[in-house]
Amino acid sequence: MGRSSIGSGPALAAAVLLFLAAAAQAQVKGEGSPPTVEQAREFLDEAEPRLLDLSNRQGRADWVSQTYITDDTEKISAEANQALIAVTMDLAKQATRFDALSLPEDLRRKLTLLKLAAIPLPAPSDPKRQAELTEITKWMEGVYGKGKYCRGPNRTECLDVNAVSRIMAQSRDYDELLDVWKGWHTISPPMRPKYERFVQLANQGARELAYPDLGAYWRSNYDMPPDAFAAELDRLWNQVRPLYEALHAHVRASLARAYPGKVPEKGPIPAHLLGNIWAQQWGNVYPLVGVPSTGPGYDLTELLKARKVDELEMVRYGERFFTSLGFEPLPATFWERSLFRKPRDREVVCHASAWDVDNDQDLRIKMCIEITGEDFVTIHHELGHNFYQRAYRPQPFLFRGGANDGFHEAIGDTIALSVTPGYLQQVGLLAKPPGSEGDLEFLMRLALDKVAFLPFGLLIDQWRWKVFSGEVPPSRYNAAWWELRRKYQGVDAPAPRSEQDFDPGAKYHVPANVPYMRYFLAHILQFQFHRALCREAGFTGPLHQCSIYANKAAGARLARMLEMGQSRPWPDALYAITGERQIDATAILDYFAPLKKWLDEQNKGRVIGWQ
Ligand SMILES: [Zn+2]
Repeated sequence: MGRSSIGSGPALAAAVLLFLAAAAQAQVKGEGSPPTVEQAREFLDEAEPRLLDLSNRQGRADWVSQTYITDDTEKISAEANQALIAVTMDLAKQATRFDALSLPEDLRRKLTLLKLAAIPLPAPSDPKRQAELTEITKWMEGVYGKGKYCRGPNRTECLDVNAVSRIMAQSRDYDELLDVWKGWHTISPPMRPKYERFVQLANQGARELAYPDLGAYWRSNYDMPPDAFAAELDRLWNQVRPLYEALHAHVRASLARAYPGKVPEKGPIPAHLLGNIWAQQWGNVYPLVGVPSTGPGYDLTELLKARKVDELEMVRYGERFFTSLGFEPLPATFWERSLFRKPRDREVVCHASAWDVDNDQDLRIKMCIEITGEDFVTIHHELGHNFYQRAYRPQPFLFRGGANDGFHEAIGDTIALSVTPGYLQQVGLLAKPPGSEGDLEFLMRLALDKVAFLPFGLLIDQWRWKVFSGEVPPSRYNAAWWELRRKYQGVDAPAPRSEQDFDPGAKYHVPANVPYMRYFLAHILQFQFHRALCREAGFTGPLHQCSIYANKAAGARLARMLEMGQSRPWPDALYAITGERQIDATAILDYFAPLKKWLDEQNKGRVIGWQ
């Protein structure tokens, strides 16, 4: 999710920095006498347009660097990023000047958000270190984007992340899966020394803002004390854990049948057998998990291919869902400027993302779309960001953001939960939907993605928080990674690992420095949102059969929350859409209740959990 503006080039970026340094100096005057409300207002009135301008410059440079990876675009983007970070850090520090002042609520909230505005990457004030930090992050992202595993006798068949993902999804050849799994994990060891340095520098930046380390800074972004937030996560994980463990036990037993002698009866599952290079979503092993078929059923990938739906048309399906709820269509520039297809002639960061390049209406997605059901859902996910961004654009700059980052990630997924068989029939993709006897198949497919994801979503930042705090030193980076994967996911590395490896780096969000807890939150929130919107739509049946397609009342309820942006603490936004003030995992449990019942029957006599 980038934010945005144009390639000013090195000279202009340097000039901007000089100008800003001078402006910062001028502001130091007023110190000494206690600040006033009027000064706080003036400070914010000047800060917001400056941040907007630099954010736009950074967004444009970043867009170009991710859609045309070269040494030059990387450098230009790093410079724009550095310019934004430098000013953000400076303003964040200045904001503390008003800490003791009694202020109107909106000013107080803006100052708080300003102090957090350097998330995800606070930088040291020393310009040399700042430059080093932003260059390291750009470099790591570039290494990931260009990452390839070359196989075959002469290493001539080179697989990028999409090709790797395809093989992990489709192959059932144990040795091939193992080879590709090991191969992809060779892209990241070169990142290790850089990541170590990255941690030092980013921590230094966090400490300059008076946070103990980068992890504590990230955890402060949830309208509650960092420890209370960590406790909330534990509470939510304990709510969903029995559901996850039931799914895990059944999938493990199914894989043991498919790969005789290769899967332990009571231990963790080998990480390369779950249909995904990170074992984060397991939908691709659906055919192996033995759900009794009640008829032809349907496979979204096959439906899309059979109807010859192309990349653009997939995006149009997503857009039409939002317009059916009462939202305006996307602007023409969205269609002109987005990247939908992997270019043949240059390197790009294929990892899907949504952009609001000018913090206004220059919305875009960047995605190397493949004609699959998985990408159909991802498109809805990305468009959720775009519609959220457009809904809060009338807000002041500092309030243009998700109620928290988990909300931002949850919107498109909430919509995708309404992509039911009934909906697919309504839009002409499915001739005749299966009756409710097909529910078990539908729920299992979804659980393999959404429930399987939960512990993965939780552990990425558990690892980073420990790394940032120093609890996990560089000498234990990889060991600690696998301890967490065993503890939460119950999966294990399929090949011996050592500290020569850097397996966290083989997951995009680590080299790209994107915080990850948002995805765990989003996976809980989307079901809570779905339950609330279905209630608003007057739907009374089982939650998994509800689609809010074309329901204007549900759309209006959603819009009310989106338009708030981050102008209020997130419990207020949650209240606006659900009438509830606490994040609640009972919605996901309700949704999958019929599946849980079936899993419990299958698991009779089996070991639950892993040692
Ligand atoms: Zn997202």
